[in-house]
Amino acid sequence: MQDAVFDDPHGHDPNCIFCNIIAGNAPCRELYRDDTLIAFLDIAPVQPGHTLIVPLRHHVDMFTMSDEEMAAVARFARYMAPVVKLVTDADGLGVHQLNGAAAGQTVFHYHMHLIPAFEGKPPKIHGREPAPAEELDAMVEALRRGM
Ligand code: AMP
Ligand code: ZN
Repeated sequence: MQDAVFDDPHGHDPNCIFCNIIAGNAPCRELYRDDTLIAFLDIAPVQPGHTLIVPLRHHVDMFTMSDEEMAAVARFARYMAPVVKLVTDADGLGVHQLNGAAAGQTVFHYHMHLIPAFEGKPPKIHGREPAPAEELDAMVEALRRGM
């Protein structure tokens, strides 16, 4: 039987990496999941603790998101941001969300970034390469303990 999540007009895009994560066809270091959204670690973090908040439904960008989905992402960001900041001992926290290639978006399934920021380190939105598996494993455990 098809997952109910994909019974909506936006559908499940089999070519979308985040849809595949949501469907369980690709791995992620999951922090949280409910009926509307999932949160997991970015595989190529700008800084350790870089977290993504992703609606379960496939929306390419913010322009098709419902008010309810936007509110759910915002609510979870409000919960998760202080956890990420505290656990990573960051000086600040960037909340970023890109719409369209022109804005720098690279994965075309809506997501919000939570990125720890540190004095003296120029803020960035994208990391360069995947972090070592052990680093991501340790971070997901630390964040889960902080939630
Ligand atoms: P954006 O440029 O805003 O579309 O950001 C996409 C983000 O998704 C980047 O920070 C990538 O590192 C991240 N990303 C891509 N593939 C994966 C994946 N399989 N698991 C976790 N994060 C990913
Ligand atoms: Zn998708």
